[in-house]
Amino acid sequence: MMKLDFLTLFPEMFEGVLHSSILKKAQEKEAVEFRCVNFRDYSTNKHSSVDDYPYGGGAGMVLAPQPIFDAVDDLVSKSENKPRVILLCPQGERFTQRKAEELANEEHLIFICGHYEGYDERIREHIVTDEISIGDYVLTGGELGAMVIADSVVRLIPGVLGNTTSKIEDSFSTGLLEHPHYTRPAEFRGLKVPNVLLSGNHAHIEEWRTKQSFKRTLERRPDLLEDYTLNKKEEKWMQQIKDEMNQEN
Ligand code: SAM
Repeated sequence: MMKLDFLTLFPEMFEGVLHSSILKKAQEKEAVEFRCVNFRDYSTNKHSSVDDYPYGGGAGMVLAPQPIFDAVDDLVSKSENKPRVILLCPQGERFTQRKAEELANEEHLIFICGHYEGYDERIREHIVTDEISIGDYVLTGGELGAMVIADSVVRLIPGVLGNTTSKIEDSFSTGLLEHPHYTRPAEFRGLKVPNVLLSGNHAHIEEWRTKQSFKRTLERRPDLLEDYTLNKKEEKWMQQIKDEMNQEN
């Protein structure tokens, strides 16, 4: 069972997310165990404070090393495996599906959720294995980022999602954006589902989906194609899509 520990000053933020939908079911299936640990409980300061003024002056408060070092030491000492210690931080590597896949192979993840101006640099340097940013914007704290990462990792654990092919075909897992989806009715307010999807011809459907996936990626995220190797058939399809797009413009 994978263990995920969230070191946070606001454990109540996790309640709705960890106790709903797939994450709730993953716990019931004993695929994961979540724990929220308030690192204020580890403060040896008589006021249980966790932050202090920055040396050298400047705006905001800095999370002090002692409560976080002690909390991580405690969790690591009780762990059967060597945990990955993840610092949520806008300066970290940008989170991707590849990183989610990498973390899904681990037995134990510890997330450190920051607040205020930031962390004492010694936390970053001495107890952290990964610094992760969930995007190029600044949040008030690391909790939402930790939940985003946990959600994307847990759904990759075998047995958590019912339909195993869906996660393989998801956007980014294939290296591309996923094709469009349609469901019943075949016509809604005069808007029709593409005929090929109603044809029952699986080879044609597969070809249509692959081409749509290429088209979407080309239109919205051409950067993803830089790392994607096209086979001969796909090269031909890609050329057709480019020609069609040129004609449309
Ligand atoms: N002064 C910091 C800086 O410029 O890098 C920003 C601190 S931010 C207000 C407070 C905390 O929110 C951070 O320590 C981190 O835990 C979290 N945070 C903010 N933006 C984030 C992002 N894009 N990804 C992950 N965590 C983030």
